[in-house]
Amino acid sequence: MKPPRFDYLLPRSLDEALGILAEHGEEAKVLAGGQSLVPLLNFRLVRPTYLVDLNEIPGLDGLRVEDGRLAIGAMTRQRTVERSALVRERCPLLADAMPQIGHAQIRNRGTVGGSLAHADPAGELPAVAAALGAELVLRSRRGERRLTPEAFFVAYLTTAAEPDELLVEARVPVAPPRTGAAFLEVSRRHGDFAIVGVATTLTVDEGGICTACAVAVTGVGPTPVVAGEAVRALVGVKPDAGAFDEVGRRLASALRPDSDLHASSDYRKHLARVLTRRALARAAERLGGGTTSEERR
Ligand SMILES: Cc1cc2nc3c(=O)[nH]c(=O)nc-3n(C[C@H](O)[C@H](O)[C@H](O)COP(=O)(O)OP(=O)(O)OC[C@H]3O[C@@H](n4cnc5c(N)ncnc54)[C@H](O)[C@@H]3O)c2cc1C
Repeated sequence: MKPPRFDYLLPRSLDEALGILAEHGEEAKVLAGGQSLVPLLNFRLVRPTYLVDLNEIPGLDGLRVEDGRLAIGAMTRQRTVERSALVRERCPLLADAMPQIGHAQIRNRGTVGGSLAHADPAGELPAVAAALGAELVLRSRRGERRLTPEAFFVAYLTTAAEPDELLVEARVPVAPPRTGAAFLEVSRRHGDFAIVGVATTLTVDEGGICTACAVAVTGVGPTPVVAGEAVRALVGVKPDAGAFDEVGRRLASALRPDSDLHASSDYRKHLARVLTRRALARAAERLGGGTTSEERR
């Protein structure tokens, strides 16, 4: 199928783009990498009057560390993040998750902001953002808002962004020393969306006692699920296999995933438990060092 007719707009500055959205936001769609939007257009699942291409706006991409956070411009290509030494060093969870998004060709065009704004319930980046407690920075002519992932991800393919707002940046906390991270998922074929994916980070003190742990799961609900209660089994103790299994057990018992064509509810819960245990074990092996995408291959 071909997309329905639309007017193509190519703003050359953020201000121009925000002006277009202030006027036409309800009837517009912004185009980032196009890896999700173009199929939606071709299937005529979305029919915008205006397509606002973000690709010529300077300053919307890039990586920098500021105030203890890694700031990722919305138009930063997924492949750029995957290949960044800064990301491997400062945000090993993100580095570990990136190669699991689709295929290299998709990551060459796909952007971090596009993936977060698309809010696919099986996407890797929403789970990473949720595990890390990212700040999602939205801008409009009315001003700026910074949302937590809990506030940003509202439902299946739905975020709290208003029609006149653009996601301009995601700000993730830099990993403290003695942090290990891992992102594990099960998908039917390499490059497919995950059936279930688990994002984990683990931080220990000098004595090896866990001081912080975060787990977020994708593929088990309309938005990423953060294991708030379950990780308490780890904090304050020395990480070991028994504690990892306990976190996985507690997490899975609180999940209520739907069954669908790809997997039953019980199978998703089983995957969440096993992947949580394995991801925490892998994060523990990596304590003190970053992870690399090469390490995964
Ligand atoms: C074959 C295939 C396999 C894939 N596998 C995976 C996978 O395993 N995991 C995964 O997570 N993704 C996967 N994807 C999706 C891919 O990661 C997309 O790149 C991503 O979901 C969307 O990013 P994009 O930059 O292409 O955004 P686009 O497709 O351009 O836009 C997506 C949506 O976000 C909106 N949007 C984009 N940028 C902004 C912004 N800055 N502010 C507000 N709204 C914005 C658009 O209007 C649109 O509604 C796959 C895609 C394909 C084609």
